[in-house]
Parts: sequence; C-alpha cells; structure tokens
Amino acid sequence: MADASRLGRITPRERPIVVCLDPGHGGHDPGAVGVRGTREKDVVLDVGLILAGHLRRTPGIQVVMTRQTDRYIPLLSRMYLGSRQRADLFVSIHADAFPDPDVRGSTVWALSGKGASNAAARWLAKSQNSADPILSKWSTSRQDPMLNEVLINMTQTAAMNAAAAAADVMIRGLAGIEGLHNAAVQHANFVVLRAPDVPSMLVETAFISNPQEEQRLRDPEFRQDLAQSMHDAIVAHFVKAPPSGSCWSAANHVLGHHETLTEVARRYGLSVKALRLANNLAQGEEPAGTHLRVPIMDA
Ligand SMILES: [Zn+2]
Repeated sequence: MADASRLGRITPRERPIVVCLDPGHGGHDPGAVGVRGTREKDVVLDVGLILAGHLRRTPGIQVVMTRQTDRYIPLLSRMYLGSRQRADLFVSIHADAFPDPDVRGSTVWALSGKGASNAAARWLAKSQNSADPILSKWSTSRQDPMLNEVLINMTQTAAMNAAAAAADVMIRGLAGIEGLHNAAVQHANFVVLRAPDVPSMLVETAFISNPQEEQRLRDPEFRQDLAQSMHDAIVAHFVKAPPSGSCWSAANHVLGHHETLTEVARRYGLSVKALRLANNLAQGEEPAGTHLRVPIMDA
C-alpha cells in the first residue's frame, strides 16, 4: 500500500530527473568485435554501469538501465522502457565499426526528421489501441484522433529539441577525451531513438574496428574517462535546461573577485568541466562579474 503521508509531501516540483541508459547489444548479440576479440557489448555495458554510478551519486537524478548484465533486450523494449519511466533523457551507448581500420572518433546520433515523422505516423496509426504503453499516458485523448495528433507532434517536437541540445553538449563533452569522428550531431532513424516523448541520443564512443581505439576501449581508465565525460555532459545539459517539474532549477552565479571556477563548481556540486560545458566556456579563468548558470537541486 502507498504511504499516504509521504505521498502528501511530494509536490510535482520535487520529482527527480530520470535518465535512461541503454548499453547496446548483449547476450547472443555481441555487437561489433575488434581484431583482438573485444566485444562491443562488454565495453558499452562497463561504460554504462560506471556512468550509472556517477549519475546515481548526483543529487536529484534517478537512473534506469535497459540492461545491467550480459543479456539481450529487443530494441523496442529498450525504447519503451525510457518512455514508461518518463525519462528526461535516453542515452544509448555503443562502439562503432567500419571496414577501414583507420577510421576513429566519437559520433553522437539523434533521430532524423524523417525517422520522427515515420514514428509519429506509426503512433497515430495505433492511437486507438489503449494497450499501447506510450499512448495510454494520454488517456483523455485516446478517443480523439485529432487531439492525439496534435499532442504527439507537440511532444515529439519538444523531445527532439531537447535531444538536439543534449547531443550538442555530449559532443563537446566527448571532444575533450576522444577525437570526434563527426563534429556535428548526426541524424538517423534508429529504433531506440523513436519514442516521441523522450529526448533520445545514441553515442558511438569510439571505433572498436580501429586497433588503437580497440586498445583504448579495453583500458579501464579510458572507459572511466568516457563515463566521466558523458556524466559531465548530461549534468551540463540539465543545468542548461532543467526539465520542467523536476527538482532541478537553474540560477545565475556572478563570479566574484578572486573567485575561481573550481570554487564555484565545488559550491554547486559540479565538476569544472560540467560548469564549463553548461556555460559554453573555453579553457582558462573567467573575469569577475561573469554570469554563470548553475543548478539549484532541491533533492
Ligand atoms: Zn552498436
């Protein structure tokens, strides 16, 4: 039974931010395999678990994972989990492969416009089906196809804008530790990105088909760096755009005389890198009087 006294204290403002992490492949599906036999499914699970640990230690953030062990989860189930958990961000984690062994670097993918309109059409086609886990959220609109269409399109536009913003921060976060394969967000019609109500991205961390990058991916320290960079980027995204109704909001901190970014970052529970990413700052100290966007966490 629900604890009514506790429920009574929870206001909508206090809901945590939900991040859904999706380590790709698993079980019978190894993903890409490097020349030394390194399997994508193992590398991305490790990065995902480290990242989940960092996020769980961040006040006000809740993590759900599509898998935490070596098992295969169908793509649609992964996407549905993010939607069912009302994730504020869905991050699928992969390692890339290409026939040319010299190709290297990170890529961040978001849903393409065509993929989005196809997905919206599919949701709409199913909109009379109350069993659909995504549409059942809008139970009041189920009987009204026109309202459904408006709601889905509005929701999807908002989710795609948020995904684009988050993917952009993710690219800048990864640029610090791994050269970029593509300096801009790439767009594709990946199944896991298609939830119309969840800002979603897919991160190709590095090329496992490149022997040097495979070597790096095998290195636990590099996997730590990847997870740390992804954590900085996710936190920076939520500092820039706290999800409405969540326990995070943003404030301005005016940098004082002799105050360093390190001090400000520590005060607000951020890494310096996350503070820089959230404020589009390059390396170096900023002058006193600089306005910095910082998080207020009511967690
Ligand atoms: Zn993959």
